[in-house]
Amino acid sequence: MASSIPISAVELGPEVERLVLEVLRSGHLAQGPMVERLERAFAAVAGTTEAVAVANGTVALVAALQALGVGPGDEVVTTPFTFVATVNAALAVGARVRLADIRPDDFTLDPDAAAAAIGDACRVLAPVHLYGCPADCAAFDGLARRHGLALVEDAAQAHGATFGGRPVGSFGVGCFSLYATKNVTSGEGGVVTTSDARLADRLRLLRNQGMRARYEYELPGHNYRMTDIQAAIAVPQLERLAESTERRRAHAARLTEGLAGIEGLVTPSEPPGRRHVFHQYTVRVTGEARADRDALVAALARRGIGTGVYYPRVVCDHDCYGDHPGVVRGDLPNAERAAREVVSLPVHPALRDADLDRIVTAVREVLA
Ligand SMILES: *Cc1c(COP(=O)(O)O)cnc(C)c1O
Repeated sequence: MASSIPISAVELGPEVERLVLEVLRSGHLAQGPMVERLERAFAAVAGTTEAVAVANGTVALVAALQALGVGPGDEVVTTPFTFVATVNAALAVGARVRLADIRPDDFTLDPDAAAAAIGDACRVLAPVHLYGCPADCAAFDGLARRHGLALVEDAAQAHGATFGGRPVGSFGVGCFSLYATKNVTSGEGGVVTTSDARLADRLRLLRNQGMRARYEYELPGHNYRMTDIQAAIAVPQLERLAESTERRRAHAARLTEGLAGIEGLVTPSEPPGRRHVFHQYTVRVTGEARADRDALVAALARRGIGTGVYYPRVVCDHDCYGDHPGVVRGDLPNAERAAREVVSLPVHPALRDADLDRIVTAVREVLA
C-alpha cells in the first residue's frame, strides 16, 4: 500500500538547525536577541508597528485581554465554533463569554449575530480567522467603533491572511499561535500584534512580571516569555511564509478543482477581498452526500489519508461550558450544523501533486 498522507507535517530545514545552534552557542536562551528578531519579522507579517512574543497562543489571548483591562463583569462576544482556547482565555481573565453563531459559508463569526449579542457589559469582540480564512474584519471594525468596543482577533490559524489587502492582526489586537501544527511554528509559541505603542508596552510588562527596570514592579504581571530557541525555529519560516502560503493556496485550488461537482460535498469558499491561507482545507459533507462525514473519515483512513474534524462539537455542547455561569449561548444553528458536517483534508506545503491526486481520487471513490 502507498505511504500514508498525514493531515499536517512539520518541515523545518537546515536554516532552522543553524539558527537554533547559534542560539544554543550564544548562551542567550530567553527573551533575547532572537526573540526580538522574531518580533520584527512578525510585525512585518501582520502589518503592525509592534509584535510581542509570548509562550503560546492561549497566553497571547489572555495577555491581550489583560492589557485591554478586561476582567470580571466584562463580556467578550465570540464564536462557539473554534478551538476552545478562545473561550478559555476569556474565562481565565474572569470575563463572561457570549457565544454567537457563525456564517454558514466561511465558518467565521457572523457580524449580525455578534451585534445582537452586544449588551451593556460587552467590552470585546473576538472573531476567529478560522482555518486561515479572515473573518469579516470590516464589519467587526465598524461594529467595534460604533459600540466603543475593543477588537481582539484570534489569528492563531491565519498567519499572513489578509482582508481588503490588509493583514489580519492589524485590525484589532492580533493573537497568533506558533504551536506545532500551525502555519508558522516554534513548537509552542505565540505573538500579540498591535500598532498601539502603549498597549505593546503593557503587554511587555505583563509578560515579564510587571517589571520595567530589574526588581521594579509597575503592575502585577506574569511570566509569558518565549525562549530564543523557540524564536530561532520560527524565524526562517517567517522569511519563507509567502512561499509556503502560496503552496497551501495552490494545493487548495487543486483540491477544489478535483472535487468539483460531487453531490453533497461543499468545498471551501474564499469570500471576495479576503486572502485565505488554508491552515485547513475544510469541506462540508451534507445530507445529500452518498456517505456521511464520519463514513468519509473512516473510508479515507482505510486508504491511508489523514483527516481532521475541527471541531466535532460546538464549545458549549460540553457540560463544563454549557453549565458554566460564565458562558452564555445564543441560537447556534449554523455552528451546530458545521460541527456535524465539516472535515479537513490534507493541504500542507509538504504535499506533492501525486498526494493531492490520491486525495481527490479517494474522496470521489467514496462520494461520487
Ligand atoms: C491553536 C489555537 C489557539 C491556541 O494556541 P496555542 O498556541 O495552542 O495555545 C487559539 N485559538 C485558535 C483558533 C487556535 O487554533
